[in-house]
Amino acid sequence: MRRLLIAGNWKMNTNVGEGEALAEALRDVDTNSVDVLVAPPFTHIDRVARALKGTEVFLGAQNVSEDTCGAHTGEIAAEMLADLSVDYVIVGHSECRGRGEVDATVAKKAARALDAGLLPIICFGESEEVYGSKERVDFLKKQVEASLAGIKDLDKITLAYEPIWAIGTGKTADAADADAVIGQVRAALDPAIQGKVRILYGGSVKSSNVAGFVAKENIDGVLVGGASLKADEFKAIAREAS
Ligand code: PGA
Repeated sequence: MRRLLIAGNWKMNTNVGEGEALAEALRDVDTNSVDVLVAPPFTHIDRVARALKGTEVFLGAQNVSEDTCGAHTGEIAAEMLADLSVDYVIVGHSECRGRGEVDATVAKKAARALDAGLLPIICFGESEEVYGSKERVDFLKKQVEASLAGIKDLDKITLAYEPIWAIGTGKTADAADADAVIGQVRAALDPAIQGKVRILYGGSVKSSNVAGFVAKENIDGVLVGGASLKADEFKAIAREAS
């Protein structure tokens, strides 16, 4: 059985004080039957880590460099995140892909993360145009395959299906449809890891709709953006998923 993962992606929101307060308020989130993760902005990670110390809440980052330490101005290396006790790193979010990140870069970032002992959450998803086309499943399978190219420890990765048109829009995918698509993507993975890899759903998840997603056979948790910024709502999501 794959344990559900409830991940909160704070994106570029909160100042340090607000982030710390949010983390403090999450200390009593119920982690008995689900894994819970928060991914604050880089600048908040150390303070959030302190605020969550002694809890079972996992710490994530929202991105990572494809390079190891060196002359890469403005980048953050996986080793630096590991040094801050980061557990997971989100790579290939559509908001990063939208700024020009290609599948090969996503694969490199995931490999760097694994080298540093971090667990990558690799996002994939289609635009509204592709969603409505016959190419949809092929597009998603190819995107996942290319985003995993060259990765050795495939059993350590998590995938997140995030249809771009559902992110931050209030429009969620139909749970049965997301389950079917995720099932097809899962079936295309290396048979040795097919049953092990967690595949999350993301896109306008909230406490009132999470149960419908996680009840599905192929959906192993959720990646939550907007609704992860309110402690009570995020805790309710974890509770509803449990
Ligand atoms: P949303 O974002 O929950 O605000 O739609 C999800 C995400 O981008 O991970």
